[in-house]
Amino acid sequence: MPVLFVGHGNPMNAIEPNRFHRRWEALGRELPLPRAVLCISAHWETRGLYLTAAEHPDTLHDFHGFPGALFDVRYPAPGDPCLAHRCAELLAGDGARLDPRRGLDHGAWSVLIAMYPDANVPVVQLSLDTGRAGAFHYRIARALAPLRDEGVLILGSGNLVHNLRLFEYHDPEPLDWAIDFDATVRERIAAGEHEGLIDYAGLGPGAALAIPTPEHYLPLLYALALQKEDEHPVFFNDEVTGSISMTSIRIGGGSP
Ligand code: ZN
Repeated sequence: MPVLFVGHGNPMNAIEPNRFHRRWEALGRELPLPRAVLCISAHWETRGLYLTAAEHPDTLHDFHGFPGALFDVRYPAPGDPCLAHRCAELLAGDGARLDPRRGLDHGAWSVLIAMYPDANVPVVQLSLDTGRAGAFHYRIARALAPLRDEGVLILGSGNLVHNLRLFEYHDPEPLDWAIDFDATVRERIAAGEHEGLIDYAGLGPGAALAIPTPEHYLPLLYALALQKEDEHPVFFNDEVTGSISMTSIRIGGGSP
């Protein structure tokens, strides 16, 4: 199976038929249908590693100040406790545990509702231990590699530039530093220079602005870590709105 990192951006992308949403819909049609999705989302931060293990995970509305229509969204994809167990096995050395109660956060469902609107693909989430450095995330992602051959689509969901404090909702003109940082990261990804991306604080003066907190950036490392030597990342939705980059990548899974 291919691997994805998707810039999810504004939660409204879940229900607005804009260009980002339409690209996600197209992805769902273009990619081979997975047996299940394993999502690593910016919106489940923990200390230690957890996996959603509910048979029927709830839809979490983990945001504020959006229209009621967004709070009405339910994404009833089933869970996959067997897959959660399998992941915990692969990550046993790092003490991954199952969480039988946790639902799906909007980092997962806002993208999946476009990709798989019938909610017919089971979804498991792996939490993000944001207390750990980039190298930790890259290493544990590698342990998940066998899942690619087991029909599981691994989906990192975040934004590689994400600064809400500097985001102007009414005038989201791309900011110069955000454009520059997005370009730097894209160049490194294209060149396969993962080390610099793992130690992201060293990515230049824009790093502190682009990654004020690590949760939206780290899901990118999960996708990169799963890149095989003969695979080349394909970019999509690669644009900057204000202080957020929607740049996304697909690794593997045939031609664009
Ligand atoms: Zn987010």
